[in-house]
Amino acid sequence: MYSTFHRIPAVLLAIALSALAVCSAAPADEDRPIQALVSVLPQQYFVERIGGEHVAVQVMVEPGQSPHTYEPKPEQLVALSQSSVYFGIGVSFEDAWLERIAAANPGMLLVDTAAGIERRHIEAHDHGDDDDDHEEDHEGENLDPHIWLSPRLVKIQARHMADALAELDPEHAQEYRDNLAAFEAEIDALDAEIRQQLAGLTSAKFLVFHPSWGYFAGEYGLEQVAIEVGGQEPSAAELAQLIALAREEGIRVVFAQPEFSTRSAEVIAEEIGGRVLLINPLALDWAENLREVARTVAEVLGDE
Ligand code: ZN
Repeated sequence: MYSTFHRIPAVLLAIALSALAVCSAAPADEDRPIQALVSVLPQQYFVERIGGEHVAVQVMVEPGQSPHTYEPKPEQLVALSQSSVYFGIGVSFEDAWLERIAAANPGMLLVDTAAGIERRHIEAHDHGDDDDDHEEDHEGENLDPHIWLSPRLVKIQARHMADALAELDPEHAQEYRDNLAAFEAEIDALDAEIRQQLAGLTSAKFLVFHPSWGYFAGEYGLEQVAIEVGGQEPSAAELAQLIALAREEGIRVVFAQPEFSTRSAEVIAEEIGGRVLLINPLALDWAENLREVARTVAEVLGDE
């Protein structure tokens, strides 16, 4: 997975690294917010809840992009060179180049917000043949990176963030701890609300194009069935299997997300006389989005 890094022209890296030199020579400004970088949008929400006005957050994977195929832009490399902290979450592009930028910006604190989280294996259909090499590559040994979609796991990520901010900015450490406590209480309330929303549904299985919702499903007693196979559209035979499964289970709704093509989701929906609904795993307003997704899933699975 180092190929992504190599596709960044050397000259751009040179620009980023010279910006670095300027940055480390500049005197520290105490009123300047901590410059923090995150990989995906929901993490921006988490950092802002904890850091408040003392932190300025920039996100690497911008709206509409997929963290699986994302490549950094030159101005983002500059941002990286000027940041005090990077909150990693274990999405695949991080493997490709974070380590090297960190080596070039030794002043930057690199926080693994997934530390202590045991990642589940991501759904992959069994091809029953030898062409599943691409699955090995996908999502790093098939571990599911979508840990921001479980409120329980977000509490762990938030704690890592608060610890790091307190370390970087001891003057406001108490504020970060208080904000963390408030955020944890908010997460608990959200979790209880979703749990209630999703209790006692007539069906538990839902079809989704990209398997983003495994942690969410696991948390609330649901079962995600992925259409995508190792990051690829399914073959005709796999599609036929999914259609048969959907018919058997009485599934009428196929979920998809804005970052991926909905073609095969639409094919399945058409075959089962159902429809495609978009749910977004990468929305910035994390809490409201999860609430909305729970409401949608409850409606869909309550009917089936
Ligand atoms: Zn994903």
